[in-house]
Amino acid sequence: MLRNCEECNRLFSHPTRVLCQDCYEQAKRSFELVKKYLQDNPGATVAQVARDTEVDLELIYEYVQEGRLDVIPKDVSLQCSICGAVINVGRVCAKCRNELRSTISSESSRYQGKSKNGTRVHILDNLKDR
Ligand SMILES: [Zn+2]
Ligand SMILES: [Zn+2]
Repeated sequence: MLRNCEECNRLFSHPTRVLCQDCYEQAKRSFELVKKYLQDNPGATVAQVARDTEVDLELIYEYVQEGRLDVIPKDVSLQCSICGAVINVGRVCAKCRNELRSTISSESSRYQGKSKNGTRVHILDNLKDR
């Protein structure tokens, strides 16, 4: 099936991918760069990561939101999508996860859709250099 690449709009053919081969490789490289940079520089801010890896800020937030990074920039925080508590990884805090786990068997459908908005990312610090 032919489709347009979401990034460069070029026509390409792939059953599931939304990016063409070039952009897919590029996206993968960017992610690896960010991941590696944060492993080497655990205290880095988003601005530092973006500057040193030349990866778009928006993309870095996306990685954080998707929970793909083991180490996240220090000025980005994730919030539990249920109670809003600050968490370091994932989409819900430990407390809500436990509650979910205990209620999920009896009320399996009640929580569906509740985390639809996904995890909210908040910038704690002003991004501008001071
Ligand atoms: Zn492309
Ligand atoms: Zn919570």
